[in-house]
This record gives sequence, C-alpha cells and structure tokens, in this order.
Amino acid sequence: MFFEHYSLISTNAWHYRYFTPRELASKGDGSLLVNHDAIARLEHMREIMGVPLIITSAYRDPLHNAKIGGAPLSMHRFGRAFDVSIRGHDRQQLYQAALTAGFTGFGFYATFLHVDTGRKRHWGKSAPIYGVRG
Ligand SMILES: [Zn+2]
Repeated sequence: MFFEHYSLISTNAWHYRYFTPRELASKGDGSLLVNHDAIARLEHMREIMGVPLIITSAYRDPLHNAKIGGAPLSMHRFGRAFDVSIRGHDRQQLYQAALTAGFTGFGFYATFLHVDTGRKRHWGKSAPIYGVRG
C-alpha cells in the first residue's frame, strides 16, 4: 500500500508494534510504500533483539533515492530494505537476528547493516562468511 505521506496513515490502520510510519517513510518527500512482508520481518528482528533499533533508511522515493546515489532498482525503492544502525549493537548479533527473522540480502557497512527481502546475497566488509566480528 502506498501513501503520499506517512501522516496520512491513521493510527488504527497501522498494525505494527515497534516501528512508526514516520520511521519507515522516505526521508525525501515523506511518502511510504508499506510492504507488509518486509515490515513483518523487521518487527520480528526487533522482537529477537529485545531492544530498540534505529532505522537510518527504509522506503525511498525515486528522487531521494537518486539524490543519495542509491541503485535505481534498490530494494529500498520497494519498501523491501532497511538500514539498521549498528551503534550500540553487536554486528554479528544483529545479523543473526535479521537472518532468523527471514531477511535474505545483507550489506555490511561501517555504521549500519542493510537488510532486505531480495535474493540471497551478502556484500561489504565483515560479511559473515569470513566470520569477522565488530
Ligand atoms: Zn540499504
């Protein structure tokens, strides 16, 4: 479901416990594509972690995505990707929680972990195949 602005989503139409529409909306125009499957996995990941997660990027409108140099077909464009801040978390623990929650694509960055529901893949430093922590 697509909303021109996250503020148009009424409280009782929002069925998620841990994340608000605002947190998942585009940082460009405030629009939000609600991808239930992806948000359900994010909620599950949050449940496993047991502590708040800071989402630095979720849905991206086309203009904002282009502006920040995102791939044109980035999973963020479809509401299927989230960048989760690593600050205050163990990177490996975050990854394990995301994996258990059903995420399939992972990008490892210095300050955040990218998770998505796209095809199975890993990229970036400290990818788990090398067993690197921190
Ligand atoms: Zn990302």
